[in-house]
Amino acid sequence: MTHRARANRLVIVGASLAGLRAAETARKYGFQDEIVLVGAEEHLPYDRPPLSKAFLDPGDAAVPWLRTERHLTEQLGLVLKLGVPASALDPQSQTVTVGEEAIHYSAMVIATGAAARALPGAAGVRGVHTLRTLDDARAVRSALDAGARTVVIGAGFIGSEIASGARMRGLDVTIVEALDVPLSRSVGPEVGYTLAALHKREDTELRCGAVVTGITEAGGQVRSVMLDDGTELPADLVIAGIGVTPSTGWLAKSGAALHQRDGGLLCDETLWTGLPGVYAAGDVAHWPNALFDGELMRLEHWATAVEQGAAAARNAIGPRGAALSTVPYFWSVWYGQRIQFVGVPQADEVSVVSEPGSERLLALYRRGARLVGCLTVDRPGQIMKYRRMISERASWDHALRFARSARLP
Ligand SMILES: Cc1cc2nc3c(=O)[nH]c(=O)nc-3n(C[C@H](O)[C@H](O)[C@H](O)COP(=O)(O)OP(=O)(O)OC[C@H]3O[C@@H](n4cnc5c(N)ncnc54)[C@H](O)[C@@H]3O)c2cc1C
Repeated sequence: MTHRARANRLVIVGASLAGLRAAETARKYGFQDEIVLVGAEEHLPYDRPPLSKAFLDPGDAAVPWLRTERHLTEQLGLVLKLGVPASALDPQSQTVTVGEEAIHYSAMVIATGAAARALPGAAGVRGVHTLRTLDDARAVRSALDAGARTVVIGAGFIGSEIASGARMRGLDVTIVEALDVPLSRSVGPEVGYTLAALHKREDTELRCGAVVTGITEAGGQVRSVMLDDGTELPADLVIAGIGVTPSTGWLAKSGAALHQRDGGLLCDETLWTGLPGVYAAGDVAHWPNALFDGELMRLEHWATAVEQGAAAARNAIGPRGAALSTVPYFWSVWYGQRIQFVGVPQADEVSVVSEPGSERLLALYRRGARLVGCLTVDRPGQIMKYRRMISERASWDHALRFARSARLP
């Protein structure tokens, strides 16, 4: 094993959105020493949201690269180590192991994100996929090109986007969801039920309260999905959208504190992991969000990865101390309709403020006397107004009055 010399060096583990933003922020704030960007995938950083949206459309599919290699190496001056995962972190010697190399760091940002959970019992079966990486998306896309009968397991946002993409190509699509109402945990049951109607309107079959018991295959290719009520759904393409696991296995012996439930990295309000000089950002990190009374959050949102990547880098290279508090934000696109959510969905009350019969939904979420969340469908001009209100701790009455008086854009 070679040992790289000690130096003032920022090592960023995870070469995707949060990692890239960390590197850019470090440079922006004047960090002139070496920055090493370590990525398990061989690819340059790319954007994931388009992979379950435009990338699945028929026709040419442009890869959503985030930056060119030249930009990364020449403009940002990064040392790229792509295609080899970090396998260990030793906080005593301040080294991270990457392949045969032990790289010393003076500061580190961990941005290893999360990996999709695989469908149990389907390893190696052709036609069974998850959708997390560019390689996954390429495989799903080519199955759609071949006109696959598609079964999506899990009616979450990514599963729903894939179902929408397949359906808009005119393919037969079934979504199997174990919950009685999809997305209850992400947007609450009332709104989950309303969103489910978008699938029904497009003739995507949605089977709620159904549990997958297994798949059948012939010659190594998937043939069908079996449900607990005995139903057999024919399938050439099965996509499991059943959640993710934070990528922290490589930290097992590091002493880093991991969340008991999902193994995500526990951080304080500044995104510090508790290991000297080591901060975390993005899908991998749990942190207490002061804007919501210190509620511990691990968000799988693009905007959070950007905000946390920047904050973690600033804190890693500078004097420690700036807490990050933010209003969570994500979006999704189903059948050409844009769903946007700000805040948190756990609420005492959800009020749907919209015109009867209109699909341009606005739903507000109340906790105590405070507005804590807002979901819109096809009201892109409105959502950021509610994000601002939530960050200013606006009262529920104020938000309701505003919603009722606001004219549709
Ligand atoms: C298909 C898809 C669609 C999405 N759509 C939306 C959307 O519409 N709206 C929205 O708000 N959010 C969306 N998201 C979520 C958003 O893309 C993520 O929140 C964001 O990518 C998180 O960035 P990250 O850098 O924290 O982690 P990731 O993007 O997961 O990147 C982590 C990187 O670290 C690498 N890595 C893992 N372990 C190691 C290791 N040991 N050593 C080195 N590298 C390692 C991984 O290979 C990966 O490249 C979507 C996600 C997916 C997958």
